[in-house]
Amino acid sequence: MQFKKIIGQRKLINQLTRVIDEGKVSHAQLFVGNMGYGTLAMAMAYAQYLNCQNRQHFGDEGDGSGLMADSCGECPSCKKISSLMHSDLHIIFPNTSTKNVTKNPSSADFQNEFREYVTANGGYCSFDGWFRHLGVESKQGLINVRDGRDLIRELSLKTYESKYKTAIVWLPEKMNADTANKLLKTIEEPSENTLILLVAEERERLLPTIISRTQPVNLHRIDDQSLYARLSQEHTEIPSETLNDIVVAAEGNYLLANEFVSQSEQRRYFAELFVNWMRKLFKLDIKNLSKTVEEICSLGQEQQKQFLRYVLDVLRACFIKTATGRPSPHMLSFDDEKFANAFPAMITVRNIERLEKDINESLYNISRNAYDKITFMSLSFAISKSLKNK
Ligand SMILES: [Zn+2]
Repeated sequence: MQFKKIIGQRKLINQLTRVIDEGKVSHAQLFVGNMGYGTLAMAMAYAQYLNCQNRQHFGDEGDGSGLMADSCGECPSCKKISSLMHSDLHIIFPNTSTKNVTKNPSSADFQNEFREYVTANGGYCSFDGWFRHLGVESKQGLINVRDGRDLIRELSLKTYESKYKTAIVWLPEKMNADTANKLLKTIEEPSENTLILLVAEERERLLPTIISRTQPVNLHRIDDQSLYARLSQEHTEIPSETLNDIVVAAEGNYLLANEFVSQSEQRRYFAELFVNWMRKLFKLDIKNLSKTVEEICSLGQEQQKQFLRYVLDVLRACFIKTATGRPSPHMLSFDDEKFANAFPAMITVRNIERLEKDINESLYNISRNAYDKITFMSLSFAISKSLKNK
C-alpha cells in the first residue's frame, strides 16, 4: 500500500513521512479514527514507507496530489508488505470459530482470508465487512490470548530481512483484558527495532495505560473534494449530482460512501424493474408479465421486500406530484422519460389507498413465506385494476 492510494489525508501523511525520514520513529503508535477514513490503510502505508529500500521524495512541488514523499511500491520490501506477506510484518485482528476452524481460533488461522479481504479493499476495511467475508457476520469477534502470545513471540525474534519487526494490531478494542495486559508489557519493554502499530476505531474502549504509552496518530474525516474525486473515478456511471449527495451524506467516510453507492445502484435497478413491471401489468400482457414476475421472484425474500418498499415510496411520490404538482425526487430516477412524465398522473386520491393496502399485504405475505410467484402475480392484477380506476 503506497500513500498515494490513500484518499485525501495529505497533511497527516506528510507529517508521518517527515518524522520517519528524520529517524524519530516511536516504537508504539496508536492510529485512531473511523476505518472509513482510511485508518488501516494509513498504518499499512506507514509500515511500507518505513521499510522501503528506495523511498521517493518529490521535492517542494510534491507529487501533484499533495504528497511530499512515498514508498517506491517496487522494491521487494514494498511488494511483500503491500500483499501482507513480509516475514517481518505480523498482523493480528478479531477472529472467531468458523466452519473450517472449529476450536481455539487465532489470527494465524485466517492469514490468507485476511490478506484477501484487505487487499481486495485497498486497506479500507470494517469489522462487519471482515466478518461478512468470513461468513460469520452475526458472531462476536475477539483478539484472544493466543493472538497476543503469537505476537509477543514474533516480536522477540530477530528480524529476517528488514530493520524493523513490525506488528499491526487491527481493532485492539476487541482484545480481552488478558491479551491487552500481555501486550502492554511488550509496549513498556520493547525489544530492539520493534514497532507496534495499533489501529483502533474507538479510543475510549482501550485501556488507559495503552493509550498513555503509545504515540497517537489521529485520523480525521476525508475532505469532500478528495472523496468526490475517488468516487467519480470508481463510478463513472453515477451522475455527478447523485455523487455530490453521497459525498455530503458520507461525512468523509469512504466505507459509508460505498454503502450509499450500492444503495443508489439498487435504486436504479429497482427503477428499471418497476417501469417494466408497470408496463406489462397495465397491458395485461400475461406472458411477458410472468417473465417480469419471475425476475422479481429471483431476487430472494429480502430483496423482494426492499423492492416492494421502493414501490411504495414511488407511488406515494407520484401521488404527491399528482396532488400538488410538485416534482418528486423519485421521478428523477427513471431513465425512461416518457414513463416518468405519464405515470404519476395514474396515481390519484381514488386509488392510492387501495394500492398501498395491496402492496402492504404482499409485504406481509412474503415475510410469512407465502409462495412468491402467486403473491406477485395477484399483486400485479390488483395494481392493474387500481391503475385503471384512477
Ligand atoms: Zn519500496
